Amino acid sequence: MKPFSYVRATEKGTAIQTVAGDRAAKFIAGGTNLIDLMKGGVAQPDQLVDITRLPLADVTAIPNGLRIGAMARNSDVANNRLVRDRYPLLSQALLAGASPQLRNMATVGGNLMQRTRCYYFNDPAMPCNKREPGSGCSAIEGYNRIHAIFGASEQCIATHPSDMCVALAALDAVVRVEGSNGERQIPISDFHRLPEDTPQIDTVLQHDELIVAVDLPNSPFAERSHYLKVRDRASYAFALVSVAAALDIDNGIIKAARVAMGGVAHKPWRAVEAQKILVGAKANEQTFAAAAEATIREAKPQKYNRFKVEMAKRAIARALTKAAGGTV
Ligand code: SF4
Repeated sequence: MKPFSYVRATEKGTAIQTVAGDRAAKFIAGGTNLIDLMKGGVAQPDQLVDITRLPLADVTAIPNGLRIGAMARNSDVANNRLVRDRYPLLSQALLAGASPQLRNMATVGGNLMQRTRCYYFNDPAMPCNKREPGSGCSAIEGYNRIHAIFGASEQCIATHPSDMCVALAALDAVVRVEGSNGERQIPISDFHRLPEDTPQIDTVLQHDELIVAVDLPNSPFAERSHYLKVRDRASYAFALVSVAAALDIDNGIIKAARVAMGGVAHKPWRAVEAQKILVGAKANEQTFAAAAEATIREAKPQKYNRFKVEMAKRAIARALTKAAGGTV
């Protein structure tokens, strides 16, 4: 591992200023992804600014929803009473991620910032445009079983690894950040990027911007939502395909619907066509099948991940059926 210096921040402003003054500095929170990348030589910061002691771990009700501090641990958020009662979809997605030990360390901010688990990205011996821009993409002609079927580019076909972010996408979360140029609020749908010609850039966050909280707007979906994750093992495995489905149903008719997917794109993928079909339709098997079919129409699989298209179709229909039956 490349040598680096370490400072523990006790105050938000100085943490931001320290990172703003050093292009090779990084914030570190739970470290469950960054430390692995540093050990493998994939990330090589010369300075780490530890933000875990900043008072940003509260989960609090706000007038229009819920505010989750960026330093809140994944396990604490998943088990928080307000989250479980009002946003069970988020709780389910968090508990589907990683392992209990990792969830005890990982923070909400760090979960938003985690990087792809593409095997070639994690292997400095292999060309990878995300790790080293212009070097090529080993996955496009390589073993691309875990890669994207939506929104990929000729530069990168990686997927975003988070479960939490898929639920946040379905719930229309807003990411609150602070940097040396002040504060801003970023809708979750704009926070992560598609790869296009710059796959090395995962998010719209500026170098010195610190995630301070995530806001969840009030939601009508608490009673009917479901997070479905399909993976190689029952635990501690990234999603091949995941679906966050949320429905608001009145007298058998769908008043509002959200469908977001994980494991299929460089960012949490909102199934916009599915939502158009769902809203105003009867909540039944035919509607859910039509929504799933509409979603996969735009899929562009790679050589080794064609199975994801059918898997995505079935997962969407199943998640919607589960959601319609009531959150459990
Ligand atoms: Fe790198 Fe992206 Fe290609 Fe994976 S898919 S090798 S992350 S450029």
